[in-house]
Amino acid sequence: MVKTSDMQTTCFERAIFLSWYCSKADCTFCYMSTQKDRIAGLKDPRMARRSFASIFAEAIISKACGWQIEFLSGGYDSFLTEELLFIIKTVHEITGKKQWLNIGTLNYEELKLYKPHVEGVIGTLECANPELRSTICPSKPMSEINSMFAACDKLGLKKGVTVIIGLGETLDDFGFLKKFIADNGIARITFYSLNPQKGTPFTSSPPIDYYEQWIALTRRSFPDLHITAGAWRDKTNYYSRLLKAGANNITKFPALKYFSSEQAKDVERQAALAGRKFIGTLTKVPKDDWDKQADALALDSGLKIKIKSKINSYLQMMKKI
Ligand code: SF4
Repeated sequence: MVKTSDMQTTCFERAIFLSWYCSKADCTFCYMSTQKDRIAGLKDPRMARRSFASIFAEAIISKACGWQIEFLSGGYDSFLTEELLFIIKTVHEITGKKQWLNIGTLNYEELKLYKPHVEGVIGTLECANPELRSTICPSKPMSEINSMFAACDKLGLKKGVTVIIGLGETLDDFGFLKKFIADNGIARITFYSLNPQKGTPFTSSPPIDYYEQWIALTRRSFPDLHITAGAWRDKTNYYSRLLKAGANNITKFPALKYFSSEQAKDVERQAALAGRKFIGTLTKVPKDDWDKQADALALDSGLKIKIKSKINSYLQMMKKI
């Protein structure tokens, strides 16, 4: 019998979302594409983004719950360069870990500026079939991702990708993904199963067997690659299979809103079913000196007060169920 101490561990990875704005807003699977007119009508993209206090409060709670920050995520052109630097630097300070960025393509100068606080950068491959990809993501050419990865190589930053399964690709496209990972020295990959958004051309999620095969094929080809697998809250039963297929960690579950829910309990159960020890919690509100956490940050007192207030709101949300 495997002792708990010998079990492979797994944890929940939380992508910290920075904004509801994206200057592209035309990837055909994305919620943002359904909001294109609203986004175009926005006089100021600042209206559609989260406050610093909200972002930092979420990072503090994530750390206390034992969640890894998967990456900082946001649409294109949501923040000014110096604002992003402030966010990345502060989340680094909160978590004690350099961050991964998933905020669109970045150039050499931007990456150089963020580098002291950044471990790596995500290229949004999205679709494993390049022809399909060019119609699904018309404004995100591969050439821009390739240039960003070249800049990462010069600066010694790691590279990762996101791939959505269920966009029309088939298992025959795995060869393309395999070559892309090998050619670019990809260190981490996040897989998602398509969660169709109302108003997009997509209406169904792929079957679990098919999704699972993508992860198994990737694990078989890349034993050391960090694989994170996402499933939405109505598909928590996927998690044990995704972990068994070779995923290291899981993501996408709306952990704050559904904290302690039956679905959250199932996520922890799924890790056990896969023979993994689940690190952190999705079900027990951690005890912490929250004010002390905020006070310890090198921020002005006004922002610290706002962070404490946001932490309080999140804790109320987590205790609601
Ligand atoms: S670039 Fe990202 S946020 Fe913008 S439309 Fe495409 S997938 Fe959505």
